[in-house]
Amino acid sequence: MTKIILDNLKKSYDNGQEAVKGVSFEVNDGEFLVLVGPSGCGKSTILRMIAGLEDISDGSLYFNENKVNDLSPKDRNIGMVFQNYALYPHLSVYNNLAFPLKISKVSKDEIEEKVNTIAEILNLTEYLNRKPKQLSGGQRQRVALGRAMIRKPDVFLFDEPLSNLDAKLRGSMRTEIITIHREYRTTAIYVTHDQTEAMTMGDRIVVLKDGEIQQIGTPQEIYESPQNIFVAGFIGAPPINLFEGRISLENGDFFVENNTANIFEIDLKSFAITPANGLNCTMALRPEALHLMQENNTENQIRVKITNIEILGHESIIYFETNNLTKSMRLNGSILNEIGDTIQIKIDTNKAVFFDGLNGYRI
Ligand code: ADP
Repeated sequence: MTKIILDNLKKSYDNGQEAVKGVSFEVNDGEFLVLVGPSGCGKSTILRMIAGLEDISDGSLYFNENKVNDLSPKDRNIGMVFQNYALYPHLSVYNNLAFPLKISKVSKDEIEEKVNTIAEILNLTEYLNRKPKQLSGGQRQRVALGRAMIRKPDVFLFDEPLSNLDAKLRGSMRTEIITIHREYRTTAIYVTHDQTEAMTMGDRIVVLKDGEIQQIGTPQEIYESPQNIFVAGFIGAPPINLFEGRISLENGDFFVENNTANIFEIDLKSFAITPANGLNCTMALRPEALHLMQENNTENQIRVKITNIEILGHESIIYFETNNLTKSMRLNGSILNEIGDTIQIKIDTNKAVFFDGLNGYRI
């Protein structure tokens, strides 16, 4: 039963690098929280401060009501899983799993029972006598996971654990980790630069950039209601479509005049705050908020030339360009058109979000 609280946590490295610039959030007991952001945004530094592997420069870290800033890593009862597995190469799978228990002086019988149970859960029973180099990447990562689980830690910390695996294995390991989490409900913090991992695994997601939090929310909140243009662009694949333009207010009705000379009528409800007439803005729409139309000349439509088509079976992605920016539209099933065709697209402006053209904040 562990809740983790970060209160204005900061980290400056000796070289003056301000890696984490005052970060505050809470991880609820049993929650699976994902820290996501581009390389260098400070995710690992935050995780390592929570683990006790990195000194905290300023701010407070609590496990429940206990301030743990100065608690040594071994006293934090944390299970950590790294990208590079960090297994002992000369030890068998059995002894890698048993290692944390041996250090804690657990009896031989108890060790055997626990190793066998964990091996069963992680489908490692038939590999217990092998050395790590005789295992596939996925199996190695399962051993690392088992080693972190075996002492029943209060908190799991994952640092990009799936980055070394191929795409298919990453998908199945994602499911495996989440299934185990649903069963054990150990508080977990998971670091990744991969937005798909963040979206599919997190109960909540913390989006970071340059050592600062950009947004905290459930995957759905982050996807549907990004608070700034960075979050909008970082989350979602294919990426959100950005239409740059200008707000114009006529007779009480709002329009966005796009640089491509299209004019889109916008319901006032679509804005988070009432925007000023003449404000430069970016209108952002997910690929599924664009629709292929048969007839021309109805409102909020654009005419574009297809630059690429991806057929994924259950859906197709159509790519096109306006204003030198690649955009995309998601369609169910397959598509009759071909690359080079000109098509008519309706923009569902009710699903658009808008950002201030200057500072990128939501309007
Ligand atoms: P991420 O995990 O998001 O890729 P990191 O937390 O590893 O980011 O790094 C955040 C920033 O701190 C980066 O600019 C990185 O270069 C810097 N940094 C990380 N570790 C050190 C270190 N030991 N000494 C100096 N700077 C570091």
